[in-house]
Amino acid sequence: MKVLVINCGSSSLKYQLIDSESEEVLAKGLVERIGIPGSVLTHRPEGKDKVVIETPMEDHNIAVKLVIDALVDKDHGVIADLSEIGAVGHRVVHGGEKFNKAVLINDAVKKDIEELSALAPLHNPANLIGINACEKNMPGVPQAAIFDTAFHQTMPKKAYMYGIPYEYYEKYKVRRYGFHGTSHDYVSARAAEILGKDRKDLKIVVCHLGNGASISAVKNGECVDTSMGLTPLEGLIMGTRSGDLDPAILDYIGEKENLSAKEVNTVLNKKSGILGLSGGVSSDFRDIDAAIAEGNEKAKTALDTYCYRVAKYIASYAVALGGIDVIAFTAGVGENNYVVRKQVSDYLAFLGVKTDDEKLKIRGEEIVASTPDSKITIMIVPTNEELAIARQTLALL
Ligand code: ADP
Repeated sequence: MKVLVINCGSSSLKYQLIDSESEEVLAKGLVERIGIPGSVLTHRPEGKDKVVIETPMEDHNIAVKLVIDALVDKDHGVIADLSEIGAVGHRVVHGGEKFNKAVLINDAVKKDIEELSALAPLHNPANLIGINACEKNMPGVPQAAIFDTAFHQTMPKKAYMYGIPYEYYEKYKVRRYGFHGTSHDYVSARAAEILGKDRKDLKIVVCHLGNGASISAVKNGECVDTSMGLTPLEGLIMGTRSGDLDPAILDYIGEKENLSAKEVNTVLNKKSGILGLSGGVSSDFRDIDAAIAEGNEKAKTALDTYCYRVAKYIASYAVALGGIDVIAFTAGVGENNYVVRKQVSDYLAFLGVKTDDEKLKIRGEEIVASTPDSKITIMIVPTNEELAIARQTLALL
């Protein structure tokens, strides 16, 4: 069977068609600027040239229709007929406290996703639009929702409560939820598999360092703490997000710069992090590395502050886990950036971390990068959220 994996944003849609038996990606692609002038579909069929289709796309229905047409196209398609798609798996950002695992979508689930939009106003409505567009274009095909928050639902209360009046939790469900759950789950499971161990016997820290970045503590196969919170803004310094800061800064900057709370929130989400700290060099670590090589001091400060924060989080998760067996780096920066991995590992030398630097330099491969006598196993484990979504979708059938 083929499973179509959909990650729908407000004006974009990413997809992969995965063969469930071989787990091969048959085609993947991206639709951008849906509902905006300049709509474009970039379709990458396996073993064939990529195709770029520029045509107006008024809404997500039209985008999904074009994706399906591309998948069955006689020249750049990868399947003969739509009936080969046995299921669709949707990445849904917020599952609140309602969803602690993936579910098949029905009307009640759609209503829940809609209600949870209060907690993820930028994401859940877009995810729902994608679900509806697929239902319309592929009637009768089972659809599953795989929630970014679900894996973190095992956190104990002491890890998810904030030190604010309890009534805000009761009235508005203000608590830590955590995100990137599909990746934390996949990477921790894969790390155990690579080591030939049972995840139930391990204390694993997963560092998902991408554009968005989060860390989680996985004990005996379950998440016990994670760095993102009510929203993805909390925790690590990210590409453009601030991560943790003194909440009083919001009010202070708002007053000084004459900005509303909403506007300060935008600064913290879009103009901060590596981009902001580097004085506007870039949110991309490749640009930061290049700027540092040219002697840019702010870029250096951004990198150092970033690594220090990651290391502090990892060390704090020794408390959450009662020790650490494995630290696994993943996502764009975690898989590719040696300097970040090295700096972070060096901070943790006091815990007995010893890296094999030749291995730590390898990029984008599954690798054990610590020495045999290191007290903690350092690993690089490339994430694969789409495959994880396809597997979970299939399991639900
Ligand atoms: P997203 O959260 O958007 O999925 P990614 O996981 O792709 O983000 O991570 C983006 C970051 O990863 C960027 O800062 C980029 O510098 C870094 N990155 C991605 N690919 C590479 C690469 N091949 N070499 C070095 N850095 C990379």
